[in-house]
Amino acid sequence: MIEIKDKKDCCGCSACVSKCPAKCIELKEDEEGFLYPEVNKVLCMDCSLCEKVCPTISGEFENDRRPLASYIAYAEDLSVRLESSSGGLFSLFAENIIVNGGIVFGAAFDSDWTVRHTAVDLKNELNRLRGSKYMQSRIENTYKEAEKFLKSGRKVLFSGTACQVAGLKTYLGKDYENLYTIDVLCHGVPSQRVWKLYLEEQEKRNDSHVKMVSFRWKNTGWKNYSLKLDFMNETSYSCVYNKDSYMRLFLSDICLRPSCYRCHFKGLCRPSDVTLGDCWGIENHSPEMDDDKGVSVILIHTEKGKTMREAIYDLCRWKSEAVDVILPKTADSRKSVKEPIYRGAFFRTLQLGGGVFRVLLSMLSSLVIRD
Ligand SMILES: Cc1cc2nc3c(=O)[nH]c(=O)nc-3n(C[C@H](O)[C@H](O)[C@H](O)COP(=O)(O)OP(=O)(O)OC[C@H]3O[C@@H](n4cnc5c(N)ncnc54)[C@H](O)[C@@H]3O)c2cc1C
Repeated sequence: MIEIKDKKDCCGCSACVSKCPAKCIELKEDEEGFLYPEVNKVLCMDCSLCEKVCPTISGEFENDRRPLASYIAYAEDLSVRLESSSGGLFSLFAENIIVNGGIVFGAAFDSDWTVRHTAVDLKNELNRLRGSKYMQSRIENTYKEAEKFLKSGRKVLFSGTACQVAGLKTYLGKDYENLYTIDVLCHGVPSQRVWKLYLEEQEKRNDSHVKMVSFRWKNTGWKNYSLKLDFMNETSYSCVYNKDSYMRLFLSDICLRPSCYRCHFKGLCRPSDVTLGDCWGIENHSPEMDDDKGVSVILIHTEKGKTMREAIYDLCRWKSEAVDVILPKTADSRKSVKEPIYRGAFFRTLQLGGGVFRVLLSMLSSLVIRD
């Protein structure tokens, strides 16, 4: 049975929970706000399926293969691009699946601003999945739902972080011709508890509930993006990424899941068909594509990934570029980020409750953040 001895070994994908035939594994939130599996030993049948489907234990996603192809690109439709984090490629892949009768899984906010994986099969609902939400999305029951649609023969596009795609694949345990997968380059996922505390403080300050969240508001440019919150009382908050306290916490790596400091799914070889990310540093190698409205990095890992690209080819501007140019060896998406030495102190402070946000703010001045 699955037993988490070192939290760095559990990415929280929930493949074990979804697979358990005795339904005796539950995800429980720890004091940092991350979910971990807990087994009811009385009900456990010792079948070991939970260990077999754990993408970390299986180790099957660790190898040194390189992508089949690598590109930079953006959607020609400017409105899609401006609503997306990078070049808007996810929306084009997703629309293509939906117009062909398929269903798309990805991360969406629910009514209390928790991020959960959810399924969408209408074009006008895709905006729920569009845009990065910088925290760990809860997979909930979506591996099982995806399996049901796959077995019925429907096309399924599953998107998420690399560990979530890996979890889906080990959970399914076999290839499906009608399954398409996308992972986003990810340097790590913050705790939803930190996000909720931040949101609480913002709502208090603005004396109103939040009605819209954009982590990547591009009115200040793609490279100088802002976090924007709209409130019910028609006021707004927006702040460039390197000044906002939540984004500073995220980008300083202090509030990430422990497993993100020893990520098994990073590197150039990914468990998905296609990887999408931001083409940071574009001005150094492809200034002709850089209008500061968002450009994506696209890594193609499989033959299926090639057909996915062909299906949206006419809707984008493309450039083929060497993977080591668009994702230098030092990129955080190729290797695990370092655990800041003050991470433990940060989470201990969080547990003290009351006045948390003020304490966070005072710590922020000493955090080192990436560009
Ligand atoms: C936690 C996190 C960290 C990231 N870190 C980096 C990074 O260091 N470098 C980099 O180049 N890019 C990073 N990205 C990816 C980048 O922000 C864009 O998501 C990506 O480039 C796709 O952009 P897009 O314009 O094609 O689509 P968009 O519409 O902007 O993205 C939508 C896609 O993101 C997925 N998504 C959104 N939030 C989450 C979430 N919380 N968990 C899982 N999937 C989610 C959706 O399911 C969908 O597939 C990160 C994304 C996330 C969610």
